[in-house]
Amino acid sequence: MCVFHYLACLSPTVGSVLYHTFMNHEGGEPIYHTLLSLDMVGVCLVNTLGCLPIVYISLMCHPLMRSLALLAYSIISAWGIFCAITARSNYGRLRAFIWQALFRLSLFLFRWLGKGAGSPTSLHLFFTMDMLAVLGGLVNLCRVPERFSPGFFDYWFNSHQIMHVLVICSIIYMHWGMLEDLAWIKTFQCPAME
Ligand SMILES: [Zn+2]
Repeated sequence: MCVFHYLACLSPTVGSVLYHTFMNHEGGEPIYHTLLSLDMVGVCLVNTLGCLPIVYISLMCHPLMRSLALLAYSIISAWGIFCAITARSNYGRLRAFIWQALFRLSLFLFRWLGKGAGSPTSLHLFFTMDMLAVLGGLVNLCRVPERFSPGFFDYWFNSHQIMHVLVICSIIYMHWGMLEDLAWIKTFQCPAME
């Protein structure tokens, strides 16, 4: 779980840094799309690898359901990755993550209803994580604030920068939530089945 979690924290950072570092290339559209795919794979990996440990912990007392949920989330994620790297618009890229987000929302609901396992203090951290990520995606999609003042935000405070800051905050919340869950799991025992 720790390995998945740390890979998840690092992947979008590495993907996005590579994408932006080589943004000054003169190789034309094919290179641009390869770099953009790299950026998207990073985002996909944080969505996938970051959530699998959360699924595992949340359903740790329901082994069959846990295996099915891990499989289902992996399939949804593989489909999401395919859609994200083949999408030709920001809207398409954001849409690729909807099923993963809905899956996580159902998982959090399950925990909130007291049926899932996990630290009682981590749920609001995971919820904040998803809200920040969704907000980041929407800001990037709506092109706010530069749409109100074109040219003014070219270097600072444009929607893409705001999105990256929100995504980093989202990853920090995921990390905090995971730390809570991992500390909690050490002393937890599933109730004996009747
Ligand atoms: Zn970027």
